[in-house]
Amino acid sequence: MTKSPKLDPARLRDATRLVHGGTLRSQFAETSEALFLTQGYVYESMEAAEARFKGQNPGFIYSRFSNPTIAMFEERMCLLEGAEAARATASGMAAVNAALMSQVRAGDHIVAARALFGSCLYILQDLLPRFGVTSTLVDGSDLAQWRAAMRPETKVLFLESPTNPGLEVYDIAAIAEIAHANGATLVVDNVFATPILQKPLQLGADCTVYSATKHIDGHGRCLGGVVLSSKDFIDKYVHNFLRQTGPAISPFNAWVMLKSLETLPLRVMHATRSAARIADVLAAHPKVRRVVYPGRSDHPNADIVKRQMSGGGTLIAFEVEGGKEGAFAFANALSIVIISNNLGDAKSLITHPATTTHQRLTPEAQAEMGITPGLVRFSVGLEDPDDLIEDLTHGLDAVGRRGLAAE
Ligand SMILES: *Cc1c(COP(=O)(O)O)cnc(C)c1O
Repeated sequence: MTKSPKLDPARLRDATRLVHGGTLRSQFAETSEALFLTQGYVYESMEAAEARFKGQNPGFIYSRFSNPTIAMFEERMCLLEGAEAARATASGMAAVNAALMSQVRAGDHIVAARALFGSCLYILQDLLPRFGVTSTLVDGSDLAQWRAAMRPETKVLFLESPTNPGLEVYDIAAIAEIAHANGATLVVDNVFATPILQKPLQLGADCTVYSATKHIDGHGRCLGGVVLSSKDFIDKYVHNFLRQTGPAISPFNAWVMLKSLETLPLRVMHATRSAARIADVLAAHPKVRRVVYPGRSDHPNADIVKRQMSGGGTLIAFEVEGGKEGAFAFANALSIVIISNNLGDAKSLITHPATTTHQRLTPEAQAEMGITPGLVRFSVGLEDPDDLIEDLTHGLDAVGRRGLAAE
């Protein structure tokens, strides 16, 4: 397996790196990156096996540790993120769990923004306390709350930005400063922003995590995740944790993700342009009460968006007139946009957080996160934006029309 000696990714721009970066060619000199669906590797002799295990000659040992296809995916992600090191995982949650769990021990404390993906709350509130790790949840947009929550034993700060589903945007650089002033690290779940529109490591974060299941795959096929950081951070915390506990990504899934990275900028930019247009159409519609889109100047954190993101992203949250009934009538009347709780797919997807992804929260907790009964989360896909606008407008026509909830 060799890298092209002619390619210097350091001199290339993102789109080029995503097509060529990290490619390892076998002796067959294949054009497209190869899928190495293998668990293990053979050695020419016992001596060669001994040397490989002792780290005296480079190469692969076992696919729970590393695999050529997975290595290509990790290297390409590093180039995109501007990270020194990366580890791919079986899912986004495996990446979040590794980034958090590997850094803490009994007695440590974590501070996190309250608006988190549900499974992240399970790790912080159910799992880690069993091992003596406590956490404090804060309003992520209030820097004073982050500062007040810091304790001598605080080891990790954790946030998502933009958040799910309220699309709040937090000041990553300022929160990284608070972490570092207290000797803690900042981990950012960057799924909603995508690595195309926001680079947390460059803003001061110590570790970025992704669910590659979303925009990175981008076609709704495979689960996967990635942890990215400095080489020191990976060596100190993540490397052994993943190697020994085993949430390894399948080489097949890594291959799907690797090939999808080639089109990631095209897909994210197309969906972002469509989302910007659609958000404006929705904001002007009489049956829409409120639109939250990070790319609009009326977003509550528009100044932070301008500083840390290069686009508003592919997700829109909006509130339909008529509460739950209105939201259901609207979504049931759509024909192109499909009802699904996933996001970052080529297909446009709509979901009703109050009754699905966030149904376990109390009404008070939902209200705190801006999850009203009429709120829907819309993941903009790759369809023609004019078709999407017609479909959404048709859906909104059904709101408030009696007896047509399931048109
Ligand atoms: C989907 C998602 C996750 C979890 O990823 P999986 O691949 O489903 O495990 C974590 N964080 C955010 C923001 C997500 O959207």
